[in-house]
This record gives sequence, C-alpha cells and structure tokens, in this order.
Amino acid sequence: SQKVVLITGCSSGIGLRIAVLLAKDEQKRYYVIATMRDLKKKDKLVQAAGDAFGTTLTLKALDVCSDESVRLCVSGVKDRHIDILINNAGVGLLGPVESISLDQMKTVFETNFFGTVRMIKEIMPDMKRRRAGHIIVMSSVMGMQGVVFNDVYTASKFAIEGFCESLAVQLLKFNVKLSLIEPGPVHTEFEVKMMEEVAKMEFPGADADTVRYFKDVYVPSSIDIFEAMGQTPDDIAKCTKKVIESSNPRFRNLTNSLYTPIVAMKYADETGGLSIHTFYNLLFNFGSLMHITMNILKCLTCSCLRRRTVSPD
Ligand code: NAD
Repeated sequence: SQKVVLITGCSSGIGLRIAVLLAKDEQKRYYVIATMRDLKKKDKLVQAAGDAFGTTLTLKALDVCSDESVRLCVSGVKDRHIDILINNAGVGLLGPVESISLDQMKTVFETNFFGTVRMIKEIMPDMKRRRAGHIIVMSSVMGMQGVVFNDVYTASKFAIEGFCESLAVQLLKFNVKLSLIEPGPVHTEFEVKMMEEVAKMEFPGADADTVRYFKDVYVPSSIDIFEAMGQTPDDIAKCTKKVIESSNPRFRNLTNSLYTPIVAMKYADETGGLSIHTFYNLLFNFGSLMHITMNILKCLTCSCLRRRTVSPD
C-alpha cells in the first residue's frame, strides 16, 4: 500500500527534489504531502511535479516555527497517518559571532532545532502507537564537525543530532526508525541566500582582522569548495530515497564520500586537536585552501569510511 510522506520546506532546494522524486516513483509507492511556509511559492514545485501534482503529490501550508500551523497541517492528514516524516526545512547563518545578534542566532535554532523537534513531537506519538514509521532529519556534515564562521548553524545541527541520537534508542523499542542525512555542500538557494546575506553584511562589532579573515579568506575558499565538491539537490533526494527504501536504514548517512575524512579526523584523535589544527592550517597557513583540502581529502579517504556513505546512484 501507498506510504504517506510528509516533507517540510518544499518550495526550493532539497525538499522540492525529494518531494518530486518520491511523487514520481514509477510504482506509485508514495503519497507525498509537500509542505511549505508560504503556498504562494508553490509554482516551482508544481511545475517540477507535473502529472504527479494532484495524484501522488498534494500541497499543504506548514511553518515549522508555529505550533498552530503544525497542528493544523497534521490534523488535516487523513487519520493523522504519516508513515514517513522528512524534516528538511532549515536556514543557514554565516559570519563572525561578534556581528550576529542573539536574536538572529535564536531564529536559526527556532527553525533548525525547535522546528524539527516540534514536527517530531506532533507526529511521533502516532507512529509509536502504530509501532511503525520512519523519521528522517536533514542534518549536515556540520552536524558532526564544526566549521569556522558557521558557529551557530553548526551548533543548531549538533543540537538536533544530539536530540536524535538520544531519541533513536527508545524509538527502536517502538519499531520507529530515525535516520540523519548528512550532506556536505549542496548547490541550492541555501548557498545563494547565504552569499547574498554576506554581501549585505556590515559586521558591526567585529574587528578588522576578523572581518578580513571572513571576507577575504573564508568566503572565497568556501565558494571554491562548493564549486569543487558540491552535490546537487537531486543527489541528496536520491540518497534520501535509498535510506527510506532500505530494509535496515542506518542512523547516520553521509552523502558525499569526499567529506568522510573530516569525520575520520575527528574519530582518529580523541583530543580534538587534529581537527582544530587541520582546519586552522587550511584557513590561515596556506595560500589556497582549496588545493590543500583536495590533497588531504585524497590522502585520507579510506575505503572503510566510504562504506559509511550512502551514494546517490
Ligand atoms: P533551501 O533554502 O533551498 O531550502 C530550505 C527550505 O526550508 C526553503 O524552502 C525554506 O523556505 C524552508 N524553510 C525555512 N524556514 C522554514 C519554516 N519556518 N517553515 C517551513 N519551511 C521553512 O536550502 P536547502 O539546501 O534545500 O536546505 C534544506 C536542508 O538541507 C536544510 O535543513 C539545510 O540545513 C540542509 N543542508 C543544506 C546544505 C547545503 O549546502 N545546501 C548542506 C547540508 C545540509
């Protein structure tokens, strides 16, 4: 029988591609409830869904930051029956900590952490009762490894990983599955939106050296990394579909094998020094962060870690 899948943040990027990929499944195994904050932004999704719109894909408004919106949306689902919940909605935040207000930081946690928790709290009890269901959380490599100038975004993804790691244990008892998807860089509006933000930033409160490290060292390197290693939203959608369809889905699912060394470094040196010094050297001690990164990644990528990755193909 058809599985009901509810996805958050489907107006663009990864969420849109997951919704379309599942709705277009040849065997029509999925009934997709594609949700977004603002239904006025539905056109791109509707167009990409084609014939699936109105048959295997339906639209609903949902703001993960609003109790009422979440309750209204979920209670509108037939019998509140959701087989697969995909928590995709998220926002990024870049820049020197000195320039970011606590209110801006809280907005990131409101969406990335509390938004996901709110969805899980609303839908998990029904899954537990039915002793069935699968919760997917779109985390990031930055859910496992901190990245300079991404302090708050990284913290929000660490927070949701800690929450899920704890919850997964009791859910096992109820036959409810929980999986994290951990992409590296992905070419979406996420990256565009962040770069637009950076261009507008005035960096109040940050000293000149910090601003220079951010604007002239970090940002260009980060753009290079996106160019060299970025996956497409469709790649992430395919990885997610694989995780959903696996008979024994893994808890952690990195999507980009080029990024596994970053995690390997963390586990290779329990003092944390290796990761911090490697990132330091990448940023400050070499002319081209890109060049060095590529070399380190090539040296460190080992087959045992490749196996941890879920590939799109
Ligand atoms: P995106 O900006 O295209 O998509 C994010 C979506 O979430 C947007 O449609 C946005 O409108 C929606 N959203 C934001 N706040 C919301 C709210 N309160 N309620 C409902 N929807 C809301 O970017 P994306 O890259 O597709 O991001 C999707 C997820 O993937 C995010 O959780 C992000 O952290 C994660 N991710 C992205 C990358 C990347 O490099 N792009 C890498 C790793 C993880």
